[in-house]
Amino acid sequence: HEILDIEAIRRDFPILDQVVNGRQLVYFDNAATTQKPLPVLKALAGYYEGYNANIHRGIHALAEKATSAFELSRRAIQQFLNAAHVEEIIFTYGTTDGINLVAQTYGRRFLNTGDEIIITTMEHHSNIVPWQMLCEEKGCVLKVIPIDDNGDLILEEYEKLLSERTKFVSVVHVSNAMGIINPVKTIIEKAHAVGAKVLIDGAQASSHIDIDVQDLDTDFYVFSAHKLYGPTGMGALYGKRDVLDSMPPWRGGGEMIKEVTFEKTTYNDLPYKFEAGTPNIADVIATYTALEYINNLGKKNLAAYEHSLLEYATEALKDIEGLRIIGQGAEKISVVSFVIDGIHHQDTGVILDQQGIAVRTGHHCTQPLMRRFNITGTTRASFAVYNTKEEIDRLVQGLHRVRKMML
Ligand code: PMP
Repeated sequence: HEILDIEAIRRDFPILDQVVNGRQLVYFDNAATTQKPLPVLKALAGYYEGYNANIHRGIHALAEKATSAFELSRRAIQQFLNAAHVEEIIFTYGTTDGINLVAQTYGRRFLNTGDEIIITTMEHHSNIVPWQMLCEEKGCVLKVIPIDDNGDLILEEYEKLLSERTKFVSVVHVSNAMGIINPVKTIIEKAHAVGAKVLIDGAQASSHIDIDVQDLDTDFYVFSAHKLYGPTGMGALYGKRDVLDSMPPWRGGGEMIKEVTFEKTTYNDLPYKFEAGTPNIADVIATYTALEYINNLGKKNLAAYEHSLLEYATEALKDIEGLRIIGQGAEKISVVSFVIDGIHHQDTGVILDQQGIAVRTGHHCTQPLMRRFNITGTTRASFAVYNTKEEIDRLVQGLHRVRKMML
């Protein structure tokens, strides 16, 4: 690739340079979590080595340094999502945490018996179960947008589901199991037309697609830092300011209060109202560095390079007899998810691992989607910026070996 120097990028990820089961590691499990570049690792260590302190409350130098680095990360996320206001960014432990926060605050306050929540067939369990829990408690009804055989959402069916009973729509931006990109802008527009609020699960989209929450006009957007070259245990929830303001707090504790008495406690302003307790300070700070790393490479360059890997892999995998790609939708990020006739995905994964190739197998936390395709799971190879066409060739060779051993 002309614009990105992939060899130089690979040197930023020392973990890639290792031998696994006698072969040079090929890491194709990026949709589960990406590797972390040296600057991110240094930012983590730098905090603990140089200015570890609790934030916001301290008046000493280390506490101030930690607080300003922490808040700088909030600004970086604001820019990353193009949010209008910095206080619209709430730090969470990740995508799952963000969705639960919205279900447990917005959902519990504003949804009632008979109200309908719409999700899709391809949701990750983390965008199904929190809504089911809410439905159980409040008597709401969960509706599901079906998909076609390619994995694309059937938008006409979505329109049929929408009514004045629809109070919330929660949809994944990019499917982790198939890589399909959903037309979220249209989905949001149609939901707003019936007065429903919308949450977009950006766990897989955030490292591949430019996100503009104002252009999308979404009410909520959630993602996890660990899928965009950042640390685990850290994510963000974006919410429109007036919507967040209307929501009750969720976790109670330090930091989220203004004044506590035994008779009555008043709550802090946004964003602190939703950030009880000591957060993952180091991970928040290192997320700034991860976003800087992505911005330096240029998200458009990342997307173009990763798309070239997707095209190469899609073509190369045609070489494997009996292989069928699950999710051949119109628009995709760099994920190939497939089944091979007569071979269980777990066997495929084990034999690839024996050759030093890391893929993910199973249902990818999308059991209803697997059921829709009448399969129990797939083998998924997902590519990041440090992957190469040579590595995809290794995957193809590896799969030939899988067939030889299993059939
Ligand atoms: N949604 C999607 C689409 C995902 O891919 C994932 C992670 N596999 C999640 C939600 C949950 O993210 P986390 O585990 O970081 O909370």
